[in-house]
Amino acid sequence: MSLDAAIDALLAAGIEIDRKPASVKSKSRDFFWYSPVLKARLDHVTADFVATPKDEGEVIEVLRICHAHDVPVTTRGAGTGNYGQAMPLAGGCVLHLAKMTAIREIAPGRVVCEPGILLKDLDAACIAQSGQELRMFSSTWATATIGGFIAGGSGGVGSIRWGNLRDVGNILRLRVVTMEAEPRVLEITGDDLHRVSHAYGTNGIITEVEMPLAPAYDWVGVFMAFDDWDAALRYGYELGACDGLLLKLITVFEPPIASDYFQRMAPHVGKGDALVALMVAPHALPGWETFSKAHPGRVIYRSDTTVWDRDPGHVFEYTWNHTTLRALKVDPSITYLQIAYGTDDPIARVAAVREALSPEVLQHVEVTRQGGRVALGGLTLVKFTTEERLDEIVAIHERLGAMNFNPHRYTLEEGGRQAVDARQLDFKREADPKGLLNPGKMIAWDDPDWSYDQMYSWPGLKPKAAAE
Ligand SMILES: Cc1cc2nc3c(=O)[nH]c(=O)nc-3n(C[C@H](O)[C@H](O)[C@H](O)COP(=O)(O)OP(=O)(O)OC[C@H]3O[C@@H](n4cnc5c(N)ncnc54)[C@H](O)[C@@H]3O)c2cc1C
Repeated sequence: MSLDAAIDALLAAGIEIDRKPASVKSKSRDFFWYSPVLKARLDHVTADFVATPKDEGEVIEVLRICHAHDVPVTTRGAGTGNYGQAMPLAGGCVLHLAKMTAIREIAPGRVVCEPGILLKDLDAACIAQSGQELRMFSSTWATATIGGFIAGGSGGVGSIRWGNLRDVGNILRLRVVTMEAEPRVLEITGDDLHRVSHAYGTNGIITEVEMPLAPAYDWVGVFMAFDDWDAALRYGYELGACDGLLLKLITVFEPPIASDYFQRMAPHVGKGDALVALMVAPHALPGWETFSKAHPGRVIYRSDTTVWDRDPGHVFEYTWNHTTLRALKVDPSITYLQIAYGTDDPIARVAAVREALSPEVLQHVEVTRQGGRVALGGLTLVKFTTEERLDEIVAIHERLGAMNFNPHRYTLEEGGRQAVDARQLDFKREADPKGLLNPGKMIAWDDPDWSYDQMYSWPGLKPKAAAE
């Protein structure tokens, strides 16, 4: 790696470069610290410099020059990912796409834009110009980019209606630049989208995205309290199955999550209250009220009618991984797991896990759609003690049929189901033959025979001393 030569060439090409250690370090970190396991291993990680291209042409230049000088490139949208995805394990260049925010086209049912635009800005423009909105977004809607969501996210607000981000139809087209001696620009559609969606930028840089849109609504945020956890979970699950009611969010929280961790809500809930958070389309409100009459929950907040002393803000900023953020602010020993309870009798599976692990593990359940059926998934809160105990808790979930997508790992495979995505590996061979894109995040690239009997530790991870 000839860093200085690369930087000289980038500066000569007119690329914006940052070499100030403090700002380079801050642009080398994401929300990995949610995990005590990743924090212990990645806290020292920093790039050598940051390149901020203003358009696709400059992205091509950065990849060409870094390829020529064997400088690893790790892409950054807004750095809100949770598994160190945007962290440069081997140093080198962070490619920060914050300036690529143009919207190219808004048309019926779709939008074309650059990857660095924030989800909220993209939504605002689509709503203002066409009365349409994004089908789904991560609860980091206010801070994350569309490119980062596609390359690092998995679903979120809207998944109750549209399923997971990588489900067919939820991403329409991606324009991707390869890292070769002569970088190529590829238009990717159809099944090939799986090559780069949720690939952490390990095999190509997204420079343009085409996403589907849905009619925009002035969604009504709702909080409901239930004396009984089982009743709350059943309510969320059955509401999710109401095909005639349009909702964008259904989330269920085991007590005492709401009273202990949601500070603006504490005056309005009891310690024993389970909480349900919803986003209901205005025209669906009467139907929702009819449905809710048959259930024991009480509405404690509606964004269209209720005024609290302290406004709670967006209901969705209590859900998905915002729940963990709010809990961490109160209790730094909290961490989380990502659990799939599936579609076959998921309520029984949640009950079995709760029976075995509550209150060391508290249920935060997201109700989504999977293959046309209602699914339950957890961003479960865990009181962290030791890594060994965390692994035991994971093993208990697996024994009870609750699938763990481990957020305490920085590789694609371990964050998934311990298996390589062959489409992503094959594409990396083609698009990044030197393996310079976000190195250390794809085990199969470095160690195809890895056994997964322990946590993988990438040998190229820059040691602490070298980083300081
Ligand atoms: C409080 C909180 C709540 C969250 N809620 C959700 C949620 O509801 N759903 C969800 O899925 N995630 C969630 N996340 C994780 C994260 O916020 C989202 O995945 C977000 O959309 C990532 O966007 P970003 O711009 O911050 O991406 P970054 O963190 O910057 O990048 C994510 C990954 O994508 C790669 N990347 C970024 N841009 C590109 C590009 N143009 N081309 C190629 N690769 C690229 C990066 O290298 C990295 O591997 C949450 C995180 C926090 C802290």
